[in-house]
Amino acid sequence: MKIGEHIKIYRRGIAALWRLSRDGAAFRFLGAVVEAVTPYVPIWFSARLIDAIAAGQPAGTLALYAGLTVGLSFALGLLAAWFKKRIDVGNFEFSDNLAFSYSWKAMEMSYASIEDRDVALRRERVENETTMGYNFYTLRECTQSAILYLTQIAASVSLTASFFALGSVAVWMKLALASGVAAAVAWQIVLYSLSARQVRKLMSCVVDVNLHAGKLDELIGDYAYGKDIRLYGMGEGLVQKELELSMTWTRAFNRVHLRAGLLDCLGKAADFVLRFGIYLVLIYASLRGEVSVGSIAKYVSCVTLLLSAAAGIVKSITQLAVNNGYLQRYFSWFDIPNEMYKGTLTVEKRDDNEYFVEFRDVSFRYPHTEAWALRHVSFKFKVGEKLAIVGLNGSGKTTFIKLLCRLYDPTEGEILLNGVDIRKYDYDEYMSLFSVVFQDFRLFAVSLGQNVAADTQFDKERVYDCLSRAGFDVRESSMPKGLDTPLYKDFDKDGVEISGGEAQKIALARALYKDAPFIILDEPTAALDPVSEYEVYSRFNSIAGDKTAVYISHRLASCRFCDKIAVFHAGQIVQSGRHEELLADTSGKYHALWTAQAQYYTK
Ligand code: ADP
Repeated sequence: MKIGEHIKIYRRGIAALWRLSRDGAAFRFLGAVVEAVTPYVPIWFSARLIDAIAAGQPAGTLALYAGLTVGLSFALGLLAAWFKKRIDVGNFEFSDNLAFSYSWKAMEMSYASIEDRDVALRRERVENETTMGYNFYTLRECTQSAILYLTQIAASVSLTASFFALGSVAVWMKLALASGVAAAVAWQIVLYSLSARQVRKLMSCVVDVNLHAGKLDELIGDYAYGKDIRLYGMGEGLVQKELELSMTWTRAFNRVHLRAGLLDCLGKAADFVLRFGIYLVLIYASLRGEVSVGSIAKYVSCVTLLLSAAAGIVKSITQLAVNNGYLQRYFSWFDIPNEMYKGTLTVEKRDDNEYFVEFRDVSFRYPHTEAWALRHVSFKFKVGEKLAIVGLNGSGKTTFIKLLCRLYDPTEGEILLNGVDIRKYDYDEYMSLFSVVFQDFRLFAVSLGQNVAADTQFDKERVYDCLSRAGFDVRESSMPKGLDTPLYKDFDKDGVEISGGEAQKIALARALYKDAPFIILDEPTAALDPVSEYEVYSRFNSIAGDKTAVYISHRLASCRFCDKIAVFHAGQIVQSGRHEELLADTSGKYHALWTAQAQYYTK
């Protein structure tokens, strides 16, 4: 990273710190100034006191100096204690807002970004680096230290400036003092940049290893994998793999920190040699009567503080420079734009219900892939119709639905609702038109009622009704607390583990509760037992009511009742029409699928 980039990213980091907690940042930085000047109060007044005693000044003057030393130190101590309290309060606000910032950003992202593995990995890497000590906390603490050291450097320089103005002190002594301090600072710069290089190397090589080990750890502890791990005797191998990864990380970490420790020792040794030299110079000057006894104590303390502040500032700046790499990766995740065009049109409410959806020469490729998931798809269906979509696995059925619901936008072509490109409609309003049960739907570890309503507040009677229409009888099921029964055990030991079939019915009830004009079911019966499957088919028309229903299924028998069937093959719609028409075409794909029977073409 170039220096300009360092400055830019650092400023952005500070602006983010400010946004995350104003109080936290302001009091921390003010606190650093107070902490920095506190030791200079006794240093300055002690020098005045000693010189006053040596000069035989009256007791009142001595008492005044003593009083000022104690009084000012006390006032600064009180201020520091108050700042500390405000900082503690700010810390909570800061950590909470930092965690929320990830959640807000994730919700703001398009579905395409959320599904993109590269994006997910970027975030996981950033979070992983956080645990390795490079993060917003480091930015905050190193900036605080930098302010403290800079204040100390300014105070030390201004209090030692009088030494250089003394005409009685030989020029060689002034030069020796100045060059000694400069050499010490230069030495620290060299050592810390070597150590920063080591840390950067460590970060670049171990973050992935750490990430991998973390994933394994998560997987081993996740009860959802517990059955397979135990039955297939995979436990030992997984633990061994995790151990190897964690050893790789530990070895790299130890190596780098041993080197950093060695560099630290070299820095300390040089520092002590220099301090000793400074003592000698000042003692020599005092013996020759060039500086007062009080001033010697002041100069020695100031130069000692100056040296440690100089070492501190070099350390803080190098740490901040390494941390800028983290900030750059952090912001690169936050800067991922939501490229979905968000229109403003409201969806037209028509009394005649004469809506129609049209795919006009639509082609689609998933991000980072070359293959077309859909190619030149043109298709029209009327709102209110029951549309079935059939085809082999991977033929593009789910992708068709994802485009219809605007989880993705077409790569080519357009999708129209009543002749208007769906991108032009208000995004949230358009989304609210669809109730979808995807094949890979998810229920949440909250109560059954909240799962159906997708909300914490809900109308119990409506929830019961939707569950019963979906074929799920709460009273006959194993739901001890009815709608308040928690699903899964993530947050509650009394949570109920439900079967795949039950989950599918609950997901169907959730779609019904939303009561959107389009209901889309992607393989809605795949996990159901034959009786439940029959129930869903036979009641499908009443379940869907007058809604537009899109129904993806492998079981062709279940599609016969639909007004229209679209047959997908290799990303294209190769046939469409009613069941009888399609079956009549004996050379068509539908006929082939029908005769081959549903269960054989799921392979
Ligand atoms: P179907 O629903 O008919 O089984 P899909 O629409 O899920 O088929 O998939 C169509 C094609 O797109 C397949 O080749 C599949 O591998 C690919 N595909 C699906 N989802 C993604 C994704 N998120 N990223 C990349 N390719 C995908």
